[in-house]
Amino acid sequence: MRRAIDNAVVWDGERVIERGSIGIEDEYIVALTDRPDGRFAADERVDAEGRLAIPGLINAHTHLYGSLARGLSLPEYGPRTFTQILEQLWWKLDKALDDSSVTTSALIGAMEAARCGVTSLIDHHASPNAIPGSLDRVRDAVCRRVGLRAALGYEVSDRDGEERAALGIEENARFLSTLDPQDRLWSAHFGLHASFTLGDRTLAAAAAAIPDGAGIHIHVAEGPEDERDCVDHHGLRIVERLDRFGLLRPRSILAHCLHVDRGEKDRIAERDAIVVHNPRSNMNNAVGTFDLAGFLDRGVVAGLGTDGLGANLLAELFTAGLAQRQTRQDALAGTFPQLDRLLFRNNPAIVERTFGVRAGRLAPGAAADVAVLDYVAPTPLNADNVLGHLLFGVAVHAFRVHDLYVAGRPILRGGAFVDIDEQAEYARAREEAGRLWKRIA
Ligand SMILES: [Zn+2]
Repeated sequence: MRRAIDNAVVWDGERVIERGSIGIEDEYIVALTDRPDGRFAADERVDAEGRLAIPGLINAHTHLYGSLARGLSLPEYGPRTFTQILEQLWWKLDKALDDSSVTTSALIGAMEAARCGVTSLIDHHASPNAIPGSLDRVRDAVCRRVGLRAALGYEVSDRDGEERAALGIEENARFLSTLDPQDRLWSAHFGLHASFTLGDRTLAAAAAAIPDGAGIHIHVAEGPEDERDCVDHHGLRIVERLDRFGLLRPRSILAHCLHVDRGEKDRIAERDAIVVHNPRSNMNNAVGTFDLAGFLDRGVVAGLGTDGLGANLLAELFTAGLAQRQTRQDALAGTFPQLDRLLFRNNPAIVERTFGVRAGRLAPGAAADVAVLDYVAPTPLNADNVLGHLLFGVAVHAFRVHDLYVAGRPILRGGAFVDIDEQAEYARAREEAGRLWKRIA
């Protein structure tokens, strides 16, 4: 199938092209031109009518399993620490998930991601009472029904006992073994919850089960208690502990890393592991400030995620800048070049490592992952100020994705899902959420 998107203001990740035309063949972009006479011969042409076309956005750390928590109120809720937030909310919710609500949570979360222009996401899943086959359910909902690119992993943990830790290891190993190198729409990590809920026996079993080229996906030093626990129980810091098990790898994703020290940052850089920053979640949980400059200056592939708190990566990036400025009391902190690296350089690098496709560029050879935004600039827009438009124009106002393509497949057209009845799925989700909430109460 050959498609063309004509008359778009194209930001290809580097340049801005007025009245650009993007040519897509099957899963890849094959042409980009601003010459009306040089347009790609396509079976189907769509007129973008001057809208802004950008590379599809990437969420490098999320939890789709939390999608049905919105509006849930828990009578006893009153956490004083990060661990209490987990105990009083997230570990109650994940235990109540069954096969059906795992699917519905993933479907709703993926639909909302699509509406935010997300074409690739990396999910960290937990459903301790519905582990076997859960990653297949999430993949079927996210990649096959909605059509997004997704990498999945199950959060192995000792918090629910030995049997569930073993089932989690089995689920990751099984899912990794089913990866199809020809299918670039889905991938996998070996998911691990966090150092403070993983004993050495479980970590050793995970290290023995993870295939050579694969990476882990784990929370690292999100709250201060994670490092304290590691030093108290294991006599070393978290990054060092993971390294002893051979788990710091180029495909490994370490989410948060708020309380790691200098030596740990050096070790992450040395091993070329990935770090993912989630500023809105960190602020919501009051857990600490990310050392943005410290990671970027070391050359660490530091990307951006939402940690399940929505899927609006542009608002997340805007907040990343605010958080740096506010906490450091420095109006020059969180610079545009730093923010650009998080979402538009490093997140695409994470996708390349994870899925083996070129992302973050609208260029021949790159994945045909494209978001066409209902944004018409009221001031001049060019390659030098496009981030200003995305952050201070798109992110802070109501924004709507007009069309979305993932691997060349149209997911949204004219602001509506092509293959999904959104109203019907939302009605089903409200019923599912009602049943889920009753199991928690
Ligand atoms: Zn997380």
